[in-house]
Amino acid sequence: MALFPAFGRQALITGQVERIGPQGHIELKNQRGEILPPAPGSDLGTHAGALASVIATIKQTYPQLRMAAIGHRVVHGGPDLRAPALVTPELLKKLEALSPFAPLHQPHNIAGIHAAAEAFPGVPQVACFDTAFHRGQPFVNDTFALPIRYYEQGVRRYGFHGLSYEYVTSELQRVAPNLYAGRVVIAHLGNGASMCAIHDGRSVASSMGFSALDGLPMGTRCGQIDPGVLLYMLDQEKLNTAQIRQILYNESGLLGLSGGLSNDMRTLEQADNAQSHRAIDYFVFRVQRELGAMAAVMGGIDLLVFCGGIGENSRMIRRRVCERLGWIGIEIDHGRNAEGATVISSELARTTVMIVPTREDLIIARAARAAAGVPEDAEHRAA
Ligand code: ADP
Repeated sequence: MALFPAFGRQALITGQVERIGPQGHIELKNQRGEILPPAPGSDLGTHAGALASVIATIKQTYPQLRMAAIGHRVVHGGPDLRAPALVTPELLKKLEALSPFAPLHQPHNIAGIHAAAEAFPGVPQVACFDTAFHRGQPFVNDTFALPIRYYEQGVRRYGFHGLSYEYVTSELQRVAPNLYAGRVVIAHLGNGASMCAIHDGRSVASSMGFSALDGLPMGTRCGQIDPGVLLYMLDQEKLNTAQIRQILYNESGLLGLSGGLSNDMRTLEQADNAQSHRAIDYFVFRVQRELGAMAAVMGGIDLLVFCGGIGENSRMIRRRVCERLGWIGIEIDHGRNAEGATVISSELARTTVMIVPTREDLIIARAARAAAGVPEDAEHRAA
């Protein structure tokens, strides 16, 4: 969560609740990075309780606070929602109906909206969807080749990480308008990882599909998989859906491939052994493969952007991904890459490569500020 003043890009409070449940832990920090004492009686056993504890801690820190609007990250906006939406009883019904599409996240997002409404009655709330940015994709990128009734009932390729892509795209529009108007691939490489092809500012293809499992391998998620493997697990291994879900979401990806060594790229880089090499090699291979596919979809590429914890910080992953991509004009300057400069492509390369630190929180803050009637340029005015 983040608490923003009316103006500026800097949050007053940031933090999170981790391991919601019996081992729950709340950590909120002020602008100086000091940890705020949690409000007494914090219940971190449920998502709603955790949000109530966050709100109580905020109120304790800023007793005079006047909350102008609240923005929520909501994982699923379904086939129709293409922009942030003001929370109304009708919207909540719509979001609840989408829970079967994202059973691990959507109910918690909705519980958060209810908890915020209870704590701040009458304050406008706005829902920002991870799917919205991708909703204009062409049919061929939106569908699976299943009987068409599945498409009609909403079994589509939704994308996700949309708030991150929207932020990075808006930054490109501001700092590099010519590149923004061209053919862009953004690689959001974090614990969750995906890629998006963006042509003239609009998402045209994404690596994540119906769920946040598809596409690239992630910390513990498998990424793209042949559905025949799931049938094998069901029929031959006699696993039930809970067991399969546990494997696909929590035991696969970097963690699975490294034989349980780690889901964390930094740890794998430091380990530098046969297990970590397997995981990193596969990660790099899939990013390169996806990049080639996205360049093909757009008829070329003008700009590759790295973001997310790995994309922003791992010079090794950026270097390895860009190796052997000379055929699409990618060539990085190793000095700039090592420094983590904004532009890391070499002077003469045909394709620009950049690092743009993502700020999903600012996209939500923009929507909340709009709901509160704060002027559009608020972000770039002094707080
Ligand atoms: P999330 O998807 O949970 O927001 P992040 O975007 O914070 O995740 O990314 C976390 C990943 O970034 C972890 O795999 C972590 O090891 C990796 N990471 C962070 N800093 C570095 C670094 N300096 N070198 C390599 N990997 C890093």
